[in-house]
Amino acid sequence: MRKLELHWQILIGMLLGIIFGYVMTGFDWGKDFVSDWIQPFGTIFVKFLKLIAIPLILASLIKGISDLKDISKFRNIGLRTIAIYIGTTVVAISIGLILVNLLQPGDGISEATVAKLERTYAGDQEVTSKLAQATQQKKSGPLKFLEDMVPDNAFSAFSDNGRMLQVIVFTILFAISMLLIGEKRAKPLKDFFDALNDVVLKMVDLIMLIAPYAVFALLASVVVTSNDPDLLLALLKYAGVVVLGLLLMITFYVVLVSVYTKKNPFWFLKEISPAQLLAFSTSSSAATLPVTMERVEEHIGVDKEVSSFVLPVGATINMDGTSLYQGVAAVFIMQVLWPEGLGLSNQLAIILTALLASIGSAAVPGAGMVMLVIVLESIGFPADLYPVALALIFAVDRPLDMCRTTVNVTGDATVSMVVAKSVGKLGDPHVEDWDDHLDEV
Ligand code: ASP
Repeated sequence: MRKLELHWQILIGMLLGIIFGYVMTGFDWGKDFVSDWIQPFGTIFVKFLKLIAIPLILASLIKGISDLKDISKFRNIGLRTIAIYIGTTVVAISIGLILVNLLQPGDGISEATVAKLERTYAGDQEVTSKLAQATQQKKSGPLKFLEDMVPDNAFSAFSDNGRMLQVIVFTILFAISMLLIGEKRAKPLKDFFDALNDVVLKMVDLIMLIAPYAVFALLASVVVTSNDPDLLLALLKYAGVVVLGLLLMITFYVVLVSVYTKKNPFWFLKEISPAQLLAFSTSSSAATLPVTMERVEEHIGVDKEVSSFVLPVGATINMDGTSLYQGVAAVFIMQVLWPEGLGLSNQLAIILTALLASIGSAAVPGAGMVMLVIVLESIGFPADLYPVALALIFAVDRPLDMCRTTVNVTGDATVSMVVAKSVGKLGDPHVEDWDDHLDEV
């Protein structure tokens, strides 16, 4: 019997997880049951994905660069990638700002709602910790992120998932040096990393076997920890504006794929969908990265020379969904709490600061909200209102995080196709049928 395609399996797991979560909230013991007995399986899956992210970046970047032969090609790919990433992020923020100004979601929020949100969340542990993280970030100067990119200890860089850019910098230096010592001398290393790359991609396949069950666990836990439905309802218009913006962004990618790469965009969306569904379920581009790489290389046909650089860099610095969200959230907060700050100059400043803030946001759940404080700070938002500002948007942050992470991952995949096409490295996919893997194991 032919098995269901992977994205259907994942989708069914997600839907059953949501239903199960809702059913469980009906029982007194339901929430505890989910967090004690179901959630750990989701966590284990995310840990497995994170476990292979660093070895995959290492092996794939070394393979990609050492296949290049000519180093100037790498510079070419690097510059294009950064330029396109900045371009798509500016498009995303602009879409967000236009929508939030046109649709004015802040209008519908009464003072009573603000007071209720403040009572519920302003002292919340997570809100407080986000503010503390933001204060920490603020202390550093504008070029701190460049400083942070260079590791002073290779082993500590490799031992920390949060230092993906450091791993990339080390690996690029290593791979370029491999090219420079010549093919003959570098051959043993190249063979080693080629094989490592294949092994890690196979690990992705194995881990994905549990994906449909894991997303069940992840979504059931999201549902049982979600907030007061009344408050969610009050924020519906704001959340709707963010989601509309994110959908427009997906439309933008679809147009880009179809016009520039001349590929069928629906085929693209179908092939990338397992990564999108995982981004949605885990709210982490970093955890999704191994799957994004596998889909883009094997199912979409982007050459490793491109994808091995574009995707890990994208997962860390290109967050179109996050920047769009930051633009909408900042203006929404101003509409409710600080209308006098809504002038054009502040809105233009948001474009720049949300661009930098999305680059600086870590690829983990909830990071976009921490960096939002930096956006607000840069336009002079009154500091004493930060706790209320975060309380205002906190209730819907998790579902929005799930949606924006999906866009972040789709954006990275789109740009990898565009860059590949522009340097003649977009070939045919060498899809191995998913069923084959299932039978093999
Ligand atoms: N969760 C997002 C990501 O991993 C970042 C954020 O917007 O919070 O891409």
